[in-house]
Amino acid sequence: ASGYSLLRDPHHNKGLAFNEKERDAHYLRGLLPPVCSTQELQEKKMMHNLRQYQVPLQRYVAMMDLQERNERLFYKLLVDNVEELLPIVYTPTVGEACQKYGSIFRRPQGLFISLREKGKILEVLKNWPEKSVQVIVVTDGERILGLGDLGCQGMGIPVGKLALYTALGGVRPSACLPVTIDVGTNNEELLNNEFYIGLRQRRATGQEYDELLDEFMTAVKQNYGEKVLIQFEDFANHNAFELLAKYRTTHLVFNDDIQGTASVVLAGIVAALQVIGGTLAEHTFLFLGAGEAGTGIAELIALEMSKQTKAPLEESRKRIWLVDSKGLIVSSRKESLQHFKKPWAHEHEPVKGLLDAVKSVKPTILIGSSGVGKTFTKEVVEAMASFNKRPVILALSNPTSQSECTAEEAYTWSEGRAIFASGSPFDPVVYKGKTFVPGQANNAYIFPGFGLGLVISGAIRVHDDMLLTAAEALAKQVNQENFDKGLIYPPFSNIRKISAHIAASVAAKAYDLGLASRLPRPADLVKHAESCMYSPTYRSYR
Ligand code: NAP
Ligand code: MN
Repeated sequence: ASGYSLLRDPHHNKGLAFNEKERDAHYLRGLLPPVCSTQELQEKKMMHNLRQYQVPLQRYVAMMDLQERNERLFYKLLVDNVEELLPIVYTPTVGEACQKYGSIFRRPQGLFISLREKGKILEVLKNWPEKSVQVIVVTDGERILGLGDLGCQGMGIPVGKLALYTALGGVRPSACLPVTIDVGTNNEELLNNEFYIGLRQRRATGQEYDELLDEFMTAVKQNYGEKVLIQFEDFANHNAFELLAKYRTTHLVFNDDIQGTASVVLAGIVAALQVIGGTLAEHTFLFLGAGEAGTGIAELIALEMSKQTKAPLEESRKRIWLVDSKGLIVSSRKESLQHFKKPWAHEHEPVKGLLDAVKSVKPTILIGSSGVGKTFTKEVVEAMASFNKRPVILALSNPTSQSECTAEEAYTWSEGRAIFASGSPFDPVVYKGKTFVPGQANNAYIFPGFGLGLVISGAIRVHDDMLLTAAEALAKQVNQENFDKGLIYPPFSNIRKISAHIAASVAAKAYDLGLASRLPRPADLVKHAESCMYSPTYRSYR
């Protein structure tokens, strides 16, 4: 290949970092100015350039350009500056990027599979240049973050998630495939937007939808085999639960909104028990919001309880209560409930509002997962603080504007006694001279390591016990120093190490359950996971 095309190939391009010998060997003489740079210096320059931009979306576009120009430098930046860059390549900035995806679209970063490709999906998959794909993140764009239906422009989400699979979990970039399934959109604004890039029609549903999804799932397995991980992302809940139930017995599938969220929140709760005391089964849980996140978390908590107490799942579920838009979910409503809510319809008189539910159920742990902001009012937090020495309050709804309460409100209204974590980040709060650092229940703690664990063991199915073990592995990474600051999650700066531990525990579970196909089982799985992780340091070309 010519030197010129080498500079245009993002997988191999090093820009000014090609040294004299490489410049001679690869016909690069004259195509670059005399200076040879180091990757460190390039990184410093790039971070400096990024920080010049005041608008987050400009930083996002600059990062995407870098990914298309010099992949290793992109990942080096991401790995070394996780805390600073996570909010750019992922939530909240990626949300705005999706809303404007039509305007900023440059080159395809993943596969678009629309209704027009029906009957040809296998051929479409073969158009993708990489042959050994290990992780696919797929969306149909119907529920992007808390932003609703963004149709085809949801592509930013699989692209961003997979960047994290590589940066935080060490899955090779060439093994990652972002996919957007376009069945239309019900978003009028997008349908009328001249820059919209998707099918200009309302969403296909029912049989038409099911058939396209089924063709996709079949084609993926045919093309990449049994061991490819398919992560469902940001599907609306009327499809998400059914897709997961339908394909979990035939494919290696994982829904991050349901299962990843559940694992990361369970980890925070398990860690919090170190501070508040008691076993999981001795606590009482109340959720505001009974959708993908709420019922997903509730079910995993119940599973872990039953594992510890040996009590039947139905017994454990009785310690967990959920409130949806109509009030407390109770048995008298059973007939009209969506199927994923039915296990939570316990015997109780009807209760309308959250405050009355809190007063009646008296939870020790309160979890917000409704997507509606400002719902943990002063009265609600005060009630929690009135019957709990250390109330656990998790305000998970994203983005920041939808948070059930702010960190400051949780600490102030509970007189500094709340253990608080949220979905979107909050700055530390000083209350009566003490500094409280709120933790972030970010799914990025779990899914990259979880996926790596599946990949390195060659797992062929996801089992709930893997989600439990991942949560335990994450909870173990929280130390006394973190607890002293009020944190129930470890700092993100150690995320590669954390991911390796999660991967090792997930892989171990896969081997124990007989679901691993990569044999023999490595003796030290943590070391093995670390050795499998992609490193973005430049290679030398001789
Ligand atoms: P979802 O499936 O649409 O569920 C939303 C639930 O909230 C539904 O049960 C809905 O009730 C209920 N709800 C809506 N408005 C309400 C109100 N005013 N009062 C009480 N309940 C109300 O959404 P999801 O996927 O679970 O996501 C929910 C939120 O969690 C989003 O903001 C998302 O960003 C956040 N989330 C955070 C994390 C994290 O922190 N790591 C992870 C995943 C999701 P009905 O069923 O009656 O309509
Ligand atoms: Mn999601």
